[in-house]
Amino acid sequence: MSYFDYTQKMYIKLVKSIANNYKTYSVLDYCQAHKNNSLQDSYFIIRHDVDGNINNALSMAKIDADYGIRATYYFRTKPFFLYRPDIMTKVAELGHEIGYHYEMLSDAMGNFIKARKMFKENLEKLRNIAPVKTVCMHGRPFSKYDNIDFWKRYSLEEFDLVGEPYLTIDYTDKYYFSDTGLCWNNHRFNLRDIVKSKGNLDIGSTPQLIDFINTPDAKRAAVLTHTNIWTDSASILMFYKIVFYVINRIKYYKKKQMVNTHMNASND
Ligand SMILES: [Zn+2]
Repeated sequence: MSYFDYTQKMYIKLVKSIANNYKTYSVLDYCQAHKNNSLQDSYFIIRHDVDGNINNALSMAKIDADYGIRATYYFRTKPFFLYRPDIMTKVAELGHEIGYHYEMLSDAMGNFIKARKMFKENLEKLRNIAPVKTVCMHGRPFSKYDNIDFWKRYSLEEFDLVGEPYLTIDYTDKYYFSDTGLCWNNHRFNLRDIVKSKGNLDIGSTPQLIDFINTPDAKRAAVLTHTNIWTDSASILMFYKIVFYVINRIKYYKKKQMVNTHMNASND
C-alpha cells in the first residue's frame, strides 16, 4: 500500500470517477428504489462507517456533496469524541443520510434485553438530530459477540427501520469494495465485513480501483469507506499503517483458526 492511497486528495479522485460514471444511492435511497422497482441498471451505493476521527467524516461529506453524491454516514453513539451532534447535523445538512453504526450487543456482552434497551436509546439520540431509517453493524472483530446477531431476535420493522446493509442489500449482482484494514483486497483477514458479492477482483490500491471504476465493467457496486483512515496527514497515515498491519495479522490468524475449527467440526 502506498501512503497516498487513502488521502483525502485520493478520495476526491475516487469520488470524481464514481460521480462521472454512475448514478449513486445512499443505503436508504437504494432500499426505496429497490422496493419501488425503480433501480437504475448501473449504479453505486455509497456508504461510510464513521469509526473514529469524526471531523474526517465532515470533510468527506463535503467532498461527496460537491460531486452531487448523497451517501450514508453511519455514526456510533459513544460519548465524547464520537458523539458529536454538531458534526452529525452538518453532515445531514449537506443532504446525506444519517444512520446508526450499532455495537450494543458487544457492549451488553451478549445480553439481548440490555442490548435492545441500548439500541432504542441510541437510535432516539440520533433521531433527535436527523431521521434515521437504516442502521449498520460495527464489526468489533475482537469481541466474541457479533452485533449482527441482534437481528436473530428482533426485526428492523419494530424500530421503524427499513435497511441494514448486511441484511437488506443483495450483493450477488454487484461488486463490493471495502477499505476495511486499510486495503481493498482484505478478504484474507476480514472477519465480519463480509458479503456474498459478484466476485473478488483482488484490487489492491485506490488508483487501481479508480481505473476499474472508469471501465464499464464495474456496472454495479457498493463502496464502503471508514472515514477515519482517509487523511492527508502523513504521520496519522503512518500510525494507521502500523496499527492496521498488527490488527490485520491478528485477524488473519483468527480467521485461519476459525476456518480450521470449522473444518475439524465438519470432519467430526
Ligand atoms: Zn465500524
